[in-house]
Amino acid sequence: MGEEKYCISCGMPLRTPDDHPLGDTTKDYCKYCAKPDGSMKSFEEALSGMAGFLERSQGLKGEAAWKAAFFALTKNPAWKSYAK
Ligand SMILES: [Zn+2]
Repeated sequence: MGEEKYCISCGMPLRTPDDHPLGDTTKDYCKYCAKPDGSMKSFEEALSGMAGFLERSQGLKGEAAWKAAFFALTKNPAWKSYAK
């Protein structure tokens, strides 16, 4: 079954319809990077979401979590142009 797809925003593998926003497999981003209406979150929204996730999962704090989130997100196709 073809190549594995990854979320263009956060890099998460998109394996099942449940990984997609509203189960829509035509979308190339995951449900965590989508707003309730199924549209993709902005860079700022993705960044704060990722920073919060890293604080909870990795114990990173404040600026460290923000920098790690920025680094992780700007490796992905949706946000490459944001990399410094
Ligand atoms: Zn994602």
